[in-house]
Amino acid sequence: MIVKPRIRGFICTTAHPQGCAASVHEQIDYVQSQPKLDKPLKNVMVLGCSGGFGLASRINAAFSGGAATLGVSFEREASGNRTATAGFYNNIAFDEAARAAGLTAHTIDGDAFSDEIKAQVIATLKEHMGPLDLLVYSLASPVRAHPRTGELHRSAIKPVGEEVNIKSLNVDKGEVMMVDLEPATEEEIANTVAVMGGEDWQFWIDILREADLLAPGFRTVAYTYIGSELTWPIYWEATLGAAKLDLDRAAGEITQSLAQLPGGAGQANVVTLKAVVTQASSAIPVVPLYVSLLFKVMKEAGSHEEIIEHIYRLFASQLSHPETMNLDEAGRIRVDDWELADGIQDEVKRRWPLVTTENLDELGDLDGYKADFLKIFGFGFAGVDYEAEVDPTLGR
Ligand code: NAD
Repeated sequence: MIVKPRIRGFICTTAHPQGCAASVHEQIDYVQSQPKLDKPLKNVMVLGCSGGFGLASRINAAFSGGAATLGVSFEREASGNRTATAGFYNNIAFDEAARAAGLTAHTIDGDAFSDEIKAQVIATLKEHMGPLDLLVYSLASPVRAHPRTGELHRSAIKPVGEEVNIKSLNVDKGEVMMVDLEPATEEEIANTVAVMGGEDWQFWIDILREADLLAPGFRTVAYTYIGSELTWPIYWEATLGAAKLDLDRAAGEITQSLAQLPGGAGQANVVTLKAVVTQASSAIPVVPLYVSLLFKVMKEAGSHEEIIEHIYRLFASQLSHPETMNLDEAGRIRVDDWELADGIQDEVKRRWPLVTTENLDELGDLDGYKADFLKIFGFGFAGVDYEAEVDPTLGR
């Protein structure tokens, strides 16, 4: 079949296998063009390994840190006239590239919240890798079937407290408009915390510790976003922020639980990352407009980073140097400092009230936003023939 982007709202229902491979290779090439990490990594697990920040973390761990990696993600293979999901193709490209480079790589596809997948991970680590020195928690999911209660929790992307009337962007139409966002109920807030909060992260650490699969000095990080006050009504002060605050609670409890790790205490940190275009972030109202303005301002200032560059900076400047990490008062590692720099935020805030559908191209970077969005699904890579027939199953 010939694969073209088919966009429905904030998702693209097709993915290009060769384009996804090109995306993975481009990220590997970037990491290989940089100095290797000062501290090599031995065994690393990434939960949410197939796209966005998780994929970039796995690429850094493997190709910059020399690590054997185990990745877990929830992706769909091709069937009938449907392509596989982008993450499915990304995983294949990563595994092939890692093995070609002599690196151990195992990928497990399934629901990371479930006990079955946890058991499969334990078995795989015992058989093929051994104790972990780093676990990256990078899941972004709208639902979680709770393994103990069987309850299905669905997250809500809503303000907390009052209704919010706020500027947003219809990316498809390139239209800037006001949207009304209804506040979440208490139940919706609790459900969002159940899906995106820290409980599952803790379950993972507990089961790995009990199975003796944490190496001395083991580290674990979970990714969060705080961002600009402009997005707080729908992010940091909203349901998602409530869930992310729960990660801070979990980080403290995990660190305590790692104090007695044989051979050396462990450490859990939340990492605050910058805003980028991923499948997860495209679904959040207001964020695409903020990101369009932010990208334009950061590109003009020369401080814009692609996902892989941002995560390389995290690994090279922070995780490799625990003694000099840029921590905030809550113990979070901050690599969102470039996004939140005064000069950048002042300019984004100056543009925010001024931006309209008519001047969006001038004040914001909608083209950059759209290009990044298509790249998630493997579209827009030089050297890929998008008119050629492809086998969406990759012969599997
Ligand atoms: P993404 O959508 O690109 O990737 C999500 C990953 O989670 C995929 O690998 C997917 O397969 C996996 N996943 C989802 N549900 C799963 C399940 N049940 N079992 C196993 N795997 C599952 O997301 P992203 O934007 O890279 O987000 C990763 C983390 O980074 C999130 O915690 C997010 O809040 C955080 N973050 C994102 C941004 C941003 O701007 N995108 C900014 C800061 C922090």
